[in-house]
Amino acid sequence: MVESSLLKQIVDKEYPLATHGVGVFLYDQNGRDYIDGSSGAMTASLGHGLRDIAQAMKEQAEKVAFTYRTQFSNQPAEDLASQLTSLAPGDLNWAFFVNSGSEASEYAIRATVNHWRSKGQPEKVEVLGRHTSYHGMTMGALSMSGHEARRPDYGTLLHEFPTAPPAYAFRFGRPGESEEQYSLRAAQEFEDAITKHGVSTVGAIIVEPIVGAAGGVLVPPQGYLRHLREMCDRLDILLIVDEVITGLGRTGAWFACETEGIVPDMLLFGKGISGGYSPMAGVLLRDHLVSTMRDGSGVSPFGHTYSNNPLGSAISLAVLEYMDRNNILDNVNDRGRELHQGLLKLEKQFDFVADVRGKGLLWGFEFVRDKTTKEAPNPKENISSSFVDECFNQGLIVYPAGIAPLNNAIILSPPLIISQQEISKLLNRLESSLEKFSSRFN
Ligand code: PMP
Repeated sequence: MVESSLLKQIVDKEYPLATHGVGVFLYDQNGRDYIDGSSGAMTASLGHGLRDIAQAMKEQAEKVAFTYRTQFSNQPAEDLASQLTSLAPGDLNWAFFVNSGSEASEYAIRATVNHWRSKGQPEKVEVLGRHTSYHGMTMGALSMSGHEARRPDYGTLLHEFPTAPPAYAFRFGRPGESEEQYSLRAAQEFEDAITKHGVSTVGAIIVEPIVGAAGGVLVPPQGYLRHLREMCDRLDILLIVDEVITGLGRTGAWFACETEGIVPDMLLFGKGISGGYSPMAGVLLRDHLVSTMRDGSGVSPFGHTYSNNPLGSAISLAVLEYMDRNNILDNVNDRGRELHQGLLKLEKQFDFVADVRGKGLLWGFEFVRDKTTKEAPNPKENISSSFVDECFNQGLIVYPAGIAPLNNAIILSPPLIISQQEISKLLNRLESSLEKFSSRFN
C-alpha cells in the first residue's frame, strides 16, 4: 500500500497505485498483476493500452482543443451520433452526449419534463424507478434509484423511495411459476406501484434491462421488458431504459433491450462507449420526443460544458470501429459461454455461492448462508466487500454489488476482448479466492 501522506485525494480507504495496463491486466507500483475482471466499474470494456484508441485521441487533440456545443458542431460528435443511432433499435434517431451516466439520467429527467410540457401536460414530471436499481449519484438520478445504501444521507433532497419491485426470480419468483407468468406478474407489480402512487403526475419510468450494481446482475424473466413497453403505451408514460452498463456490447448485443425487440423512448448509455479512455455518456431519443419538443416548448439549449465534446466523441468512434473490426460481439458471446460454464462449476463446488446469472460478459452471483433457505449473510459481515479484497489478494478485480440485507453479490464483467486462456486464468483466481473465503461460511 502507498503512504497515505502521498495521496491528497478524498478516498474511503487507501488503494495501490495502478501504473499501467495491458489488455485485461492491470499492474500496480510493485509490479503485481491483476486481471481486470470487472473492467473497473464495467467501463474499460476493451481492456488497457490499445494503441488504436491512443492514436485516435492524439489525432483529435492535435486538431482542436475543444468546441462548445452552442457555438460549433464537430465531426466526431456528428459521426458518433450517426453510428449510435444506426446501431440502436427502432427510431432512436437522436443523440445527446454528456460525460457520465448520472448526467445522462439527469438529461432524461429534463427531456421528460420538456416533452410533457410541450404536449400540454406539465404535471407529468415524475420519473419512477424500481427498488434495487441504480441510475447515478446526482440528486435527480439518485431520486430515481432504489439503492438503499446510497440514499439515506440525502433525506429530503431526494424524491420518494421507488417502490416498484425488481424482477428477480431467485428471491421473488414463486414456486411453480413459469418465466412467462413471472414476467407478467413483475410487470403488473410495477403497474400497481404506479397506480398506488397516482399515474397523473408520472411522466416516465426508468429501468435497467439487467440490474447492475444495485442487485448484482439481475436478469429479468423473458417478456418483462415487452410487458413494460406495453404498459407504458397504455398508461401514456415514457419508457427510459438505462443501458449505462448493458449497452455497447456488454451483453453480447449492441444494446440489451434488442433481445426483447422493444424500442424505449429514451436509451441511456455510458461506461463502455469510450472504453474508459475518457468520460463519455449520452442519451438516444426517439423521433416522436424530438418532434414534440421542437413543435412545443423547444429543445432545451442547456447541457454541460463538455457535452458533445470532440475528444470524447473521437475516442468513442475509435471504440466502435475497433469493436466492429475485431468482431468483439462474437467474442463476448463465445467467452461469455465459457465464463458461465466456469461459474456454474464453482456454484456446485461452493455451498455459499448461489444463483449464477447473466448474459454475454456480464455475470453475477450471490452469497448465501444456506442454499435451501437462501439466507443472505448478515449485512454487518460486509461479505461482498471482503470478497473483493480477497480476490484483490489473488490478483483479480471483481465488483461488489447487491443491497444488504436483501443480498450480497459480486459482478464479473471482464473486458470484452478477453481470450479463452484469460477466462481460465480468471476462473482459477476466482476459485482460489473462494477457497480462501470458505472459512467465512463455516
Ligand atoms: N446507470 C447505471 C445503470 C449505472 O450502473 C451507473 C454507474 N454505476 C450510472 C447510471 C451512473 O453512471 P456514472 O457513475 O457514470 O455517473
